[in-house]
Amino acid sequence: MTDHVVLWDFDGTLATRQGMWRGCLVEALSAVSPGHGVTGDDVGQWLNEGFPWHDPDAGHPSLDTPDLWWDALRPVLLNAYLRTGVGSAVASQAAELVRGCYTDPTRWTVFPDTVAVLEELAGTGWRHIVVSNHVPELDALMEALGLRPYFEAVVNSALTGWEKPNPRIFEAALQQAGHPERVWMVGDNPTADIAGAHAAGIPGILVAPDGTGLKSAVRQIKSQTNRSAAPPASRSTAAFASPSIPSAPTR
Ligand SMILES: [Mg+2]
Repeated sequence: MTDHVVLWDFDGTLATRQGMWRGCLVEALSAVSPGHGVTGDDVGQWLNEGFPWHDPDAGHPSLDTPDLWWDALRPVLLNAYLRTGVGSAVASQAAELVRGCYTDPTRWTVFPDTVAVLEELAGTGWRHIVVSNHVPELDALMEALGLRPYFEAVVNSALTGWEKPNPRIFEAALQQAGHPERVWMVGDNPTADIAGAHAAGIPGILVAPDGTGLKSAVRQIKSQTNRSAAPPASRSTAAFASPSIPSAPTR
């Protein structure tokens, strides 16, 4: 086993869900009330707070089963529908459908370069771990998308109880990785992924949220590997390594 590990964000880095949360809420509503007229923008404006990752300082280790996690989110989903003008009975039914809708693998797309870059790095000895702010079902979703075999572990905020950029989830990832000599974090969120990793002593590579920066990230990782005389990209030499792309929106 090598001592080189890449920590990967999931959403917007390796794969994406069509319409993300707002799209999912519209889909769930359509299943209950076809022709409702509610748009993603209508409902999306009420989804900017209340999710676990909106308060990364707090942590939620007590939500230690998938059902508890979704139970805690239900009022947020319900509120979004109600504030959009959806009636309470329809809102309740739609909110119940969001879990299955969000985790439906057919609504997810793996970026075209994802598998190629994972294989390329694995071929030069890098191990892969996902570090994601996500729903509890991420592991099963990755299996369904064919991605799970490329990763030796999935460190999921819904299961650890700590959301990026909280250092605790990065510490959990480093522990899972065996505190490797060389480690990178690759993600599309400047705060959660890059600043969060940096605060934990891990250098980060910011990628575009559409998967187009993955090959560039791999080149950067491999160039560090090959530069044997240079300091390694180790925890002690943490540095930002961001291509000049616009800031990614937060989830
Ligand atoms: Mg992301």
